[in-house]
Amino acid sequence: MNDNAETLPHLNTVFEAIASRDDLSSDLRKSLVELWGAHKETQHLLVQARSDIALLSDRVLEKERREKKLESQLLYNRKSGLPNHFVLDNDLTGIIREAVVAAHPRTIAVMIVALDEAYEMAHKALDRQYTDWIIYECAGRLQDILPANARLYHTRDNEFVLLLVGVDPLINLSAYAERVRETLGDNFKFPEYTVRIGCLIGSAVFPRDGANKTQVLRSADIALNTAKHLQKSYLEFRPNMQSQAIEKMELQDAIIRALEEQSIAEISRQFSLFFQPYFAVSRGEAGGLCSRLIGAEALIRWEHPTRGLVDPCRFIPVAEESGLIIPIGSWTLFRAAEHLSEWAELGLNELSVSVNLSPRQFKDPNLVENVTKALGRSKASPTRFRLEITEGSVMDDLDQGLRKLHKISQLGVEIVIDDFGTGYSSLNYLRRLPIQGIKLDKSFIDEVLTSSHTQGIIRAVLHMAEDMGIEVVAEGVESFSQADYLASIACPVVQGYYFGKPLQADSFKRFAEKNYGSTVAHSEKNH
Ligand code: C2E
Ligand code: CA
Ligand code: CA
Repeated sequence: MNDNAETLPHLNTVFEAIASRDDLSSDLRKSLVELWGAHKETQHLLVQARSDIALLSDRVLEKERREKKLESQLLYNRKSGLPNHFVLDNDLTGIIREAVVAAHPRTIAVMIVALDEAYEMAHKALDRQYTDWIIYECAGRLQDILPANARLYHTRDNEFVLLLVGVDPLINLSAYAERVRETLGDNFKFPEYTVRIGCLIGSAVFPRDGANKTQVLRSADIALNTAKHLQKSYLEFRPNMQSQAIEKMELQDAIIRALEEQSIAEISRQFSLFFQPYFAVSRGEAGGLCSRLIGAEALIRWEHPTRGLVDPCRFIPVAEESGLIIPIGSWTLFRAAEHLSEWAELGLNELSVSVNLSPRQFKDPNLVENVTKALGRSKASPTRFRLEITEGSVMDDLDQGLRKLHKISQLGVEIVIDDFGTGYSSLNYLRRLPIQGIKLDKSFIDEVLTSSHTQGIIRAVLHMAEDMGIEVVAEGVESFSQADYLASIACPVVQGYYFGKPLQADSFKRFAEKNYGSTVAHSEKNH
């Protein structure tokens, strides 16, 4: 364009000089004027064309720039700048393909690093710019310790994946996982706060833990989830983890099916309550051990149509994790209340029933309403109805927990702390809780005859409980000697295989009718 701007005035002067000559014939002058006109027209078109080309090339550049940006948005994480799961997928496919055709196939390790709940908490508590910076900083720290044969990806907000090619899985992986934990474990310092974040790591190795990309990624994910579940910081995939994960899914599916049938009849067909008796113990007139039936703990049983009897220790945690414990738990509350009411109608009205509540059930906002309905419908006595909760259920959120305990107490229902001694185990906090009893965990009873340390703890608990006016139940009593010792130190209530195993509802009813109101004397020879 500049060329034209300069040449045109110059040509103009030349043309005017020629045209002003008076020796030109009129024909020649006419041709000259026409030629000049055509020239100017050509020049004009040329200028136009050049500007069109410039505009077009600007547009092409803009399009390329946008495409690049879009590509980087699609393939790179905005916060960390690291390639995302699309790139990981693509890279892993390529690396595995190369490994398969190589003369000496190399192992490829997939390591998933998940930031722990401290990051989730920071996410909730702090402004976005802080957590964005934490992620950026994590990416930087991981990159700083990245070995030459490794690639790093940012696959989810709190999750990074490392591909390590040619590692010795047994030696290098756990050492490397430890370095990852160390570097991410360093404080994140802001002017106002210092944030500390941990991580959980799961790894799997191709070809050992998966024959293709999908399988090896899934194995690493299973290892990570198992680590979360077992509260380990790092786990390598093991084949039994897979069968556990599959079993968990199957169980979940089976519980959903049992509940989907929706009819209470179906739930009642598959689930049932067993009752394990508990007894007041004392020394008889002759100083011997005596017991008297005072109630029973409701323990759920699941008779799966094809699997047979499933242990509650297996399905309760699965139901708890998926939330399915809520419908199962409501059913338990209603059934237990019905049984209690039935016992009272038979004249066994001094017996109480004790129902277990998982942490999630305890937090359920409908709990108090459900208990009220269960008691109302069955006309069971609230003062004979007990709920067993663990220390953790209350301590998770003490204020909320206390409020709920008070509401339950107002119904007249008793609250007992189950598995006492396995959780927070602070005797003093118990004083703040409106409870009527504690169940000393079986692990104490197992050692009651052999460890003087345990004996000391049990005595202290009994002393404190007496002081507070609450009851102590020793659970898991398996022998006469244990029972006898417990009675000798004035432990008021016992439960365990020595006195009675969990019984089907009908069997328990017969057992209760036979034993109700009578005191049974025990001697070592009897058992
Ligand atoms: P838990 O509440 O600590 O219940 C006591 C468990 O110990 C029961 O196992 C019982 O059968 C067993 N047991 C009782 N006496 C003895 C003994 O002398 N020796 C031995 N070795 N074991 C004894 P179970 O019925 O398998 O229940 C296991 C756990 O499942 C329970 O532990 C409880 O946490 C949970 N659970 C059971 N039923 C329910 C329920 O209806 N709802 C909820 N949320 N959890 C339940
Ligand atoms: Ca219990
Ligand atoms: Ca227990």
